[in-house]
Amino acid sequence: MAGTGPEPGQGYLGTGRSLWLAYALLLAAGLGAILVNLLQVLDSKQLYLREADKANANLAYSIAQHAQESIKEADIVLSGMVDLLERGENSPEAFNQLLTTYKQRTPQLAGAFVYDAQGRWLHYTNPPPTADANNFDRAYFQHHLHSVSRDTEVSNPIRSRSTGEWVLPVSRRFDDRDGHFAGVVLATIRVDHFRQFYKLFDIGQQGSVLIAMNDGTIIYRRPEKGGDTGDSILGSHMFQSDLKRSPVGLGASISVLDGVDRVYAYRALDHFPLVVSVSLSRQEVLAEWGRKAVVVACLVAVLVLALILVGGSLVARLRKRIVAAQSIALENRELQHLAHRDSLTGISNRRQFDHALRTEFHRAATVGTPLALVMIDVDHFKSFNDRYGHQAGDVCLKAVSDVLRRFKVRAGDTVARYGGEEFVVLLPHTDPAGARLVAERIRQAVQEQGLVHSGNPAGVVTVSVGVHSMVPEDTEQPERLLELADAALYLAKSGGRNRVCMAQPVV
Ligand code: GH3
Ligand code: MG
Ligand code: MG
Repeated sequence: MAGTGPEPGQGYLGTGRSLWLAYALLLAAGLGAILVNLLQVLDSKQLYLREADKANANLAYSIAQHAQESIKEADIVLSGMVDLLERGENSPEAFNQLLTTYKQRTPQLAGAFVYDAQGRWLHYTNPPPTADANNFDRAYFQHHLHSVSRDTEVSNPIRSRSTGEWVLPVSRRFDDRDGHFAGVVLATIRVDHFRQFYKLFDIGQQGSVLIAMNDGTIIYRRPEKGGDTGDSILGSHMFQSDLKRSPVGLGASISVLDGVDRVYAYRALDHFPLVVSVSLSRQEVLAEWGRKAVVVACLVAVLVLALILVGGSLVARLRKRIVAAQSIALENRELQHLAHRDSLTGISNRRQFDHALRTEFHRAATVGTPLALVMIDVDHFKSFNDRYGHQAGDVCLKAVSDVLRRFKVRAGDTVARYGGEEFVVLLPHTDPAGARLVAERIRQAVQEQGLVHSGNPAGVVTVSVGVHSMVPEDTEQPERLLELADAALYLAKSGGRNRVCMAQPVV
């Protein structure tokens, strides 16, 4: 079959690789889809957190502004009072009237007060709890008593002695004409003022808003559960770490007060020792993202599943077709093979021999090399059949063909059953002497097999062999070689059988 077209199997091997490639592509597409979505989902999580940071930062700014304004307004009241006192205006009726006006104009104020150098109540919007009330012990009083600074002081929140509510004290000292300490003016801001403002913001169920002194003392915190006015929140991450690095910033931590995981923005006030912060629960910030992520994950799962199912079934169908095509090709090859084989002996049949003879004859004619034909015929085979039966005859023919097979040594050699009990061996590039040698060996090998044949004078199965070798002329036909070898065979038969004869050149 050499040189009769491309082997179909090789093409299908390539298709097998393509199938694997198709599977790999499917897998890559599925994994790619999952990866892209995973990245997108993670990215959008960051987006939600960034939005929360932005909202927190904006709100922290507003709250800081609000606190600053509230304290500044109180301070304006204080500086007016200090001016009046230092100018010697201290008529109780006029002063109390003035304080009341201030308080009405500044609704965040719980009260306004003037204490003398000994802490006694001089002027006030709210009457003293007792006749001998004295505020010498208050922290702000002690501060001004011992500090020459005329600056405004904001002190830790306290419970008002006049109303009992929580207030943030804002105070200044005032001096007498000689510049000595003459007392303290005080305006108190209601903690409730902050509560009312912070109520307005939408910070979710678990968000929080805080205003505190910068020593960690809580002025007010929403939600009210878990951190009251006057408590310390100094242990929090914001005080322990964030504020030490920067007066304004963002952070994330688990609250020391209620254990909620929050993202927050904080800001220290510019002119007063206060800090504000706004925070949102991480869980609430990411709730919507989580829901979307689940939906996206489901969609991706469905997509990937569809890809695998549809793609997989397509590839499987393709695979089936390729397998079918492969087996058809295999069958064809087998049929082709069978068409050239002799069914009894398995060696080449007459048809294949004719083809080989034509091919080799023309090749030999073109190249100018000798081509030899050895023709073999079993001796007294009719009588073998008659004695041992047709089936035994078949076995004998197979045995002879097995011997002949051994003489097919070169690629171009052809061993064939020519018909009945006649065989041929075609030997390219073989001159008469070489061909004769092969023929003789064949004859001997058959005899040496020792297949008993009582109808043959030799006692065993023998063959007669006719040999001819020629360098064909361009004008000659392959039949010429056949005729000459056949003639040689005839000579062998007529010469007594079990022998090799060369054709006598006919001139
Ligand atoms: P010779 O020595 O002159 O060649 O005598 P022979 O008997 O071998 O020659 P003949 O041509 O008279 O007989 C050939 C016989 O071979 C006739 C036929 O029955 C037998 N034969 C042909 N093909 C087959 C086969 O396929 N199987 C069997 N068992 N016998 C076959
Ligand atoms: Mg014969
Ligand atoms: Mg015969």
